[in-house]
Amino acid sequence: MENCIFCKIINGDIPSERVYEDENMVIIKDVNPQAAIHLLLLPKEHYADIEEMTYAQAHTLAECVKKLSEMTKQLGLENGFRLVSNKGKHGCQSVGHLHIHILGGEQLGDRMG
Ligand code: 5GP
Ligand code: ZN
Repeated sequence: MENCIFCKIINGDIPSERVYEDENMVIIKDVNPQAAIHLLLLPKEHYADIEEMTYAQAHTLAECVKKLSEMTKQLGLENGFRLVSNKGKHGCQSVGHLHIHILGGEQLGDRMG
Protein backbone atom coordinates (compact mmCIF):
# COMPACT_ATOMS: atom_id res chain seq x y z
CA MET A 1 0.00 0.00 0.00
CA GLU A 2 1.44 3.35 -1.07
CA ASN A 3 2.17 5.92 1.62
CA CYS A 4 1.80 3.45 4.47
CA ILE A 5 4.70 3.81 6.92
CA PHE A 6 4.40 0.21 8.09
CA CYS A 7 4.28 -1.20 4.54
CA LYS A 8 7.47 0.78 3.87
CA ILE A 9 9.05 -0.65 7.03
CA ILE A 10 7.97 -4.17 6.04
CA ASN A 11 9.46 -3.89 2.55
CA GLY A 12 12.62 -2.19 3.84
CA ASP A 13 12.11 1.30 2.38
CA ILE A 14 12.13 2.74 5.91
CA PRO A 15 14.72 1.32 8.32
CA SER A 16 13.62 -0.26 11.58
CA GLU A 17 15.02 -2.43 14.33
CA ARG A 18 13.60 -5.85 13.48
CA VAL A 19 13.51 -8.45 16.18
CA TYR A 20 11.68 -11.13 14.17
CA GLU A 21 10.39 -11.81 10.67
CA ASP A 22 8.61 -14.68 8.98
CA GLU A 23 6.30 -15.06 5.97
CA ASN A 24 3.34 -13.49 7.79
CA MET A 25 4.71 -10.79 10.06
CA VAL A 26 7.52 -8.52 11.14
CA ILE A 27 8.15 -7.57 14.77
CA ILE A 28 10.01 -4.28 15.22
CA LYS A 29 11.00 -2.02 18.09
CA ASP A 30 8.66 0.96 18.46
CA VAL A 31 10.56 4.16 17.66
CA ASN A 32 8.92 5.91 20.64
CA PRO A 33 8.87 3.25 23.37
CA GLN A 34 6.25 3.52 26.10
CA ALA A 35 7.62 0.67 28.23
CA ALA A 36 11.03 -0.88 28.85
CA ILE A 37 10.21 -3.23 25.97
CA HIS A 38 7.83 -1.87 23.32
CA LEU A 39 7.53 -3.89 20.15
CA LEU A 40 5.10 -3.75 17.24
CA LEU A 41 3.76 -6.86 15.55
CA LEU A 42 3.03 -5.93 11.93
CA PRO A 43 1.16 -8.35 9.68
CA LYS A 44 2.80 -8.21 6.24
CA GLU A 45 -0.56 -7.81 4.52
CA HIS A 46 -1.90 -4.27 4.56
CA TYR A 47 -5.30 -3.70 6.17
CA ALA A 48 -6.23 -0.75 8.33
CA ASP A 49 -7.79 -2.40 11.36
CA ILE A 50 -9.92 -5.31 12.55
CA GLU A 51 -13.02 -3.96 10.81
CA GLU A 52 -11.23 -4.17 7.46
CA MET A 53 -9.68 -7.54 8.29
CA THR A 54 -10.93 -10.60 6.40
CA TYR A 55 -11.44 -13.95 8.12
CA ALA A 56 -8.36 -15.26 6.31
CA GLN A 57 -6.33 -12.33 7.66
CA ALA A 58 -7.79 -12.95 11.14
CA HIS A 59 -6.63 -16.57 10.92
CA THR A 60 -3.12 -15.43 9.95
CA LEU A 61 -3.07 -12.87 12.75
CA ALA A 62 -4.04 -15.56 15.27
CA GLU A 63 -1.10 -17.64 14.03
CA CYS A 64 1.20 -14.63 14.48
CA VAL A 65 0.03 -14.16 18.07
CA LYS A 66 0.53 -17.86 18.76
CA LYS A 67 4.04 -17.63 17.32
CA LEU A 68 4.69 -14.65 19.58
CA SER A 69 3.66 -16.76 22.57
CA GLU A 70 6.49 -19.15 21.70
CA MET A 71 9.09 -16.36 21.61
CA THR A 72 8.43 -14.54 24.89
CA LYS A 73 11.63 -15.70 26.57
CA GLN A 74 13.90 -14.65 23.71
CA LEU A 75 12.14 -11.27 23.60
CA GLY A 76 12.63 -10.66 27.35
CA LEU A 77 8.92 -10.97 28.07
CA GLU A 78 8.99 -14.06 30.28
CA ASN A 79 7.50 -12.18 33.26
CA GLY A 80 4.46 -11.10 31.29
CA PHE A 81 3.42 -8.50 28.76
CA ARG A 82 0.47 -6.58 27.38
CA LEU A 83 -0.91 -6.66 23.85
CA VAL A 84 -2.75 -3.57 22.63
CA SER A 85 -4.23 -2.72 19.24
CA ASN A 86 -5.49 0.83 18.93
CA LYS A 87 -8.40 1.39 16.56
CA GLY A 88 -9.79 4.65 15.23
CA LYS A 89 -10.04 8.07 16.83
CA HIS A 90 -11.07 7.08 20.34
CA GLY A 91 -8.45 4.34 20.33
CA CYS A 92 -5.78 6.88 19.24
CA GLN A 93 -4.71 4.83 16.23
CA SER A 94 -2.10 6.89 14.37
CA VAL A 95 -0.95 4.43 11.68
CA GLY A 96 -3.61 2.86 9.44
CA HIS A 97 -1.97 -0.55 9.08
CA LEU A 98 -3.16 -2.98 11.73
CA HIS A 99 -0.53 -3.54 14.37
CA ILE A 100 -0.32 -4.99 17.84
CA HIS A 101 1.71 -3.20 20.48
CA ILE A 102 3.70 -5.58 22.70
CA LEU A 103 4.56 -3.92 26.00
CA GLY A 104 6.61 -5.37 28.82
CA GLY A 105 10.05 -5.69 30.33
CA GLU A 106 8.86 -4.00 33.52
CA GLN A 107 5.82 -3.86 35.81
CA LEU A 108 3.06 -2.14 33.81
CA GLY A 109 0.31 -0.02 35.34
CA ASP A 110 -3.02 -1.65 36.15
CA ARG A 111 -5.05 0.97 34.29
CA MET A 112 -5.38 0.53 30.53
CA GLY A 113 -7.51 3.48 29.50
P1 5GP B 1 -0.75 3.65 17.04
O1 5GP B 1 -0.69 5.07 17.55
O2 5GP B 1 -1.29 3.63 15.61
O3 5GP B 1 -1.46 2.69 17.93
O4 5GP B 1 0.73 3.13 17.01
C1 5GP B 1 1.68 3.54 16.07
C2 5GP B 1 3.03 3.30 16.68
O5 5GP B 1 3.97 3.32 15.64
C3 5GP B 1 3.46 4.37 17.69
O6 5GP B 1 3.72 3.75 18.94
C4 5GP B 1 4.69 4.99 17.06
O7 5GP B 1 5.70 5.29 18.02
C5 5GP B 1 5.15 3.90 16.10
N1 5GP B 1 5.83 4.41 14.93
C6 5GP B 1 5.43 5.42 14.10
N2 5GP B 1 6.31 5.59 13.11
C7 5GP B 1 7.29 4.67 13.30
C8 5GP B 1 8.49 4.36 12.57
O8 5GP B 1 8.82 4.96 11.54
N3 5GP B 1 9.26 3.35 13.07
C9 5GP B 1 8.91 2.66 14.18
N4 5GP B 1 9.74 1.69 14.58
N5 5GP B 1 7.79 2.91 14.88
C10 5GP B 1 6.99 3.91 14.45
ZN1 ZN C 1 0.47 -0.85 5.23
